[in-house]
Amino acid sequence: MNDNKKHIAILGSTGSIGTQALDVVRANEEVFCVEVLTGNGNADLLIKQAIEFNPNVVVIADETKYQYVKEALKPHDIKVYSGSKAIAEVVEMENIDLVLTAIVGYAGLESTLAAINAGKQIALANKETLVVAGELVTALAKEKGVNLYPVDSEHSAIFQCLAGEFHNPIEKIYLTASGGPFRGKDKTFLSTVKKEQALKHPNWDMGAKITIDSASLMNKGLEVIEAKWLFGLKAEQIDVIVHPQSIVHSIVQFIDGSMKAQLGLPDMKLPIQYALGYPDRIKSDFPRFNFINYPQLTFEQADTKTFRNLALAFHAMNKGGNAPCVLNAANEVAVEAFLLDIVGFLQMSDIVEQCLQTVEFISKPSYTDYVETDKETRRVAQKIIKA
Ligand code: NAD
Ligand code: MG
Repeated sequence: MNDNKKHIAILGSTGSIGTQALDVVRANEEVFCVEVLTGNGNADLLIKQAIEFNPNVVVIADETKYQYVKEALKPHDIKVYSGSKAIAEVVEMENIDLVLTAIVGYAGLESTLAAINAGKQIALANKETLVVAGELVTALAKEKGVNLYPVDSEHSAIFQCLAGEFHNPIEKIYLTASGGPFRGKDKTFLSTVKKEQALKHPNWDMGAKITIDSASLMNKGLEVIEAKWLFGLKAEQIDVIVHPQSIVHSIVQFIDGSMKAQLGLPDMKLPIQYALGYPDRIKSDFPRFNFINYPQLTFEQADTKTFRNLALAFHAMNKGGNAPCVLNAANEVAVEAFLLDIVGFLQMSDIVEQCLQTVEFISKPSYTDYVETDKETRRVAQKIIKA
């Protein structure tokens, strides 16, 4: 370990964030060293990554693929485990400095909590963790002296604007939203859209779940709740502004009225690298923004009447307790069903709304309450879909 490198665990290394994080590591081998890689469905990619980056341990969440991965990595002296429990265990390994949480959805909660509990610094991509249990996660991080470095581009922007200003009160923040592929469309149009259209994001290339969330504006709703917990803000301090070019990644307004924004081309490698390298900026050859190519940067109000998810997320955040956990679980089920062509685009918001009305409200949930709420909401959402 006396190599001055940052030793990192990448949870969800086979996904969009995970593979881009490995691009960052590949370009900066003198700075980072990979200790752990984990994946779920894509065993072949996980094996390929393990052979290239030679981590200490690999975990395949899907237990049916364990033998396959183990056999493939036998000649390479890499330990292989399987199952989600194993992911939550390996993050405690002594030689890990920082854990990148890039598993998608509620599935990332247990391992994130385990990593914080073990005192590991966190580069947080898995926003659902903060949506589901933000109070619990941030309280534990505080207790353990763990920093949560945001990977989400908007939150990274806010964090970068705050560097050197952490003692200065924030008046409000503006989270920018591209508006997704259906910006400006009405409900009649949205009632007919298929997953193929929703999966085409104008500016970002991401995993399927977050791409659908971006099209439905649920992603921005989740990000509002994520921002509340990351930066300790009240609902009225968080605003969303649609900015179709995705160049201004977000804005902080301080108590003197001064505003700071962070700009750059939409490329997740930049916020990933900032979170992994913090507090240092690392030289990169990412393409640079050229003002001449963007004669106009525009801003507009979000249409929360058509895209109800954003309003539902604000509602859940204001209600507090287990409401955001319900919102998240209902949305995960709804998105899955939309990706299977079982429900329509607009129905996703109906499912979320009905779950928020149906599932029992708990004002001060414990960890077990979150687990139960997630389960119960999935059951209710499935019932709504089948009705
Ligand atoms: P993805 O679907 O591309 O990858 C998800 C990763 O998690 C994969 O490695 C997959 O194998 C693993 N995984 C999935 N289900 C699992 C389970 N049940 N147990 C263990 N592992 C599991 O997703 P992504 O787009 O990389 O997003 C990852 C997280 O980062 C999400 O929370 C997302 O909201 C957030 N995020 C992503 C982007 C982006 O540009 N992709 C931007 C901001 C935030
Ligand atoms: Mg984002």
